[in-house]
Parts: sequence; C-alpha cells; structure tokens
Amino acid sequence: MEYRKVGKWGLKISEVSLGSWLTFGNQLDLNSTRQVVRYAVENGINFIDTAEAYANGIAEAMLGMVLKEYRREDLVISTKVFWGGDGPNQKGLSRKHLLEGTWNSLKRLQLDYVDILYCHRPDPEVPMEEVVYTMDQILKSGLAFYWGTSEWSAEEIEQACKIAEKMNAMPPVVEQPQYNLIFKKRVEEEYAPIYEKYGIGTTIWSPLASGVLSGKYLEGIPEGSRLDRWPWLRKTMEERGIFQEETLQKLKRIKEIADGLGVTMAQLSIAWCLKNPHVSSVILGVSSLDQLKENIKAVEVKNLITDEIYSELNSLF
Ligand code: NDP
Repeated sequence: MEYRKVGKWGLKISEVSLGSWLTFGNQLDLNSTRQVVRYAVENGINFIDTAEAYANGIAEAMLGMVLKEYRREDLVISTKVFWGGDGPNQKGLSRKHLLEGTWNSLKRLQLDYVDILYCHRPDPEVPMEEVVYTMDQILKSGLAFYWGTSEWSAEEIEQACKIAEKMNAMPPVVEQPQYNLIFKKRVEEEYAPIYEKYGIGTTIWSPLASGVLSGKYLEGIPEGSRLDRWPWLRKTMEERGIFQEETLQKLKRIKEIADGLGVTMAQLSIAWCLKNPHVSSVILGVSSLDQLKENIKAVEVKNLITDEIYSELNSLF
C-alpha cells in the first residue's frame, strides 16, 4: 500500500480507502462492518470516509462503535456535512448547520475530531465568506484538522481559496469528486487549472460507477445488487446510457483487457483511477468482505497497466 499526500498538504492517506455509502448500516450490519474495517486496516488502509447523510447517521454511528478497537492516530477519518435532516436549518452550509452538523457527526462517531471535514455539496444560498469563515473556525476549534469540498465546481473551489487567503483562513485542501473510467471530465479537465495553483488533492468516489465497472451488469441486473436495491440509482444510470449497446461493448472490452492481464474488471477499473497522479485516494465501496479482498488488490494491478493499455482505456469513454 502506498500513502499519498493530499495535494500539497502534509496529510498522508492510503492510495485506496474505505467508504460507507449505502453499505454501512444498509447491506453491512455492525458485525460485517467490523470485519470489513478490520480487514481494511490490517491491509494498510488508513483512511475511512463517511457522511452525516449516510443511512441517516447510522453509518457514522456504526463506524464510531467499530473505531473503538483502533488507536486514533493510526487512522484518518473523514465525514461530510450538508444533508442533516428536513428542517430549514438542517440542510446546506449555513454557519448553523455546519457547526451543528459537525457536533452531531462527532457525537455519533464518538470522536473528538475528524481529520477531514467536507462540505458535501456547494450551497448557492450561503455566501462563500460564511462557509470559509465557519470551516476555518471549526478547524481552529480542533473539531477537524483539514476541510474539503465535494462536487464543487472549479470556480467555487477557487472562490473559496481566494476568500481564505484574504481572510488569512485555512483554504479547502481536498475535493471529493466522482471519478471512474466512464465519468472523468471534471477531474481531468475542469479541475486541471486548480491542482497546482492551490495544491488541491482528490479523494475520488464511485471508482466502479456503483458496480457497473465490475462487469456485474453486463447480462442484466442481478438480484440484490445496488442497482436492483436502489431504483433511483438504476434510473440515473439508464439516463446516462449505461445500458446502451455502445456502452456495453466498451465495458466488454474492459473485461477482455482485464481477462488478458489475469485480473478482474473491478481490479483493473480501480487500478486505472490510481494511475492519475491527482488522485490522492480511491474510495472503495464494498457490500461484502469478499469484494474488499478483491478490490484492494488493485494497488498491485496498477503496475500491470502498460502505456498501451492505459491509452486504450483512456480512449474508450
Ligand atoms: P463503487 O463505484 O466502487 O461502487 C461500490 C459498489 O459496487 C459496492 O457497494 C457493490 O455493490 C459493488 N461492487 C464493489 N466491488 C465489487 C466487485 N468486486 N464485484 C461486484 N460488485 C462490486 O463505489 P461507491 O459508489 O460505493 O463509492 C465509494 C465511496 O465513495 C462511498 O462508500 C462513499 O464513502 C463515497 N461517496 C461519496 C460521494 C460524494 O458525494 N462525496 C457519493 C458517492 C460515494 P453491490 O454489491 O450492492 O452491487
């Protein structure tokens, strides 16, 4: 396992990490969450990602129970605030919700601080000054060590960095965007000007496009799979053309390349994400221990991707 710096900043995180969306508190109960976290940590993962919204707080609460068996300094824990509830002040990035959301997350996690606190989405209703000032204050209070953004535009990140500089406040250090073989434009093109300029790192989500890049949907939708369980997500994928013949052909080509290397399609797809030097960590989502055992091997598979294979994979989507 390699440990990468988060952009230009001092924090080091494992190149693959463990996420908790739709899994902790849903497909994984407390016991299986404990097993998955244990395997991850024993095999070099030091970074675990969650959010106040995941399973309505249950993902954080479960993680909190599981974390008791580890030394806090050995782990990098992140959570995200934005969707805290239905009330007018429980959602978004107002000073009130940022502070209350952070306190509530820490209570569920049974932690004094998180290492990274993300603003889970941009909030056009709140002035950027309010967000930057509050995040800086959260850092100064010791509730979080670094702050980041998730699915913010390059323009919004740049605005936050400029305001932070003006206020002598801590800027966002990391963005959490979607990045995989299918959806790559934002990470590769939109953010290109801000990586060096502000030293931003990325912790990327859905490396398998919710499992599509494992090849599990090539012959239809298996019962109990993510797209079977969450119809809204299946609809989103359908709208993005995932089940169109052209896309299926490209996915089959990825499978052929993986077969040729003697690895799985999931391992190859995750390894491809790791080839991008702007990726600080690839967040793995797993609904079973077996998936984690398979996917974590991507750290070795990245060394099998030759320039020729890399450029073919890049040209597919
Ligand atoms: P993936 O795209 O890797 O999807 C993970 C899902 O794919 C699993 O839960 C499983 O679903 C399936 N899968 C994984 N490995 C395999 C395999 N080897 N074979 C077959 N199926 C497999 O990642 P996620 O979408 O889960 O994202 C990763 C993490 O990123 C999240 O847990 C979360 O922490 C973070 N995230 C952040 C977001 C943000 O807005 N900031 C948004 C989304 C995620 P199943 O078995 O149920 O089919």
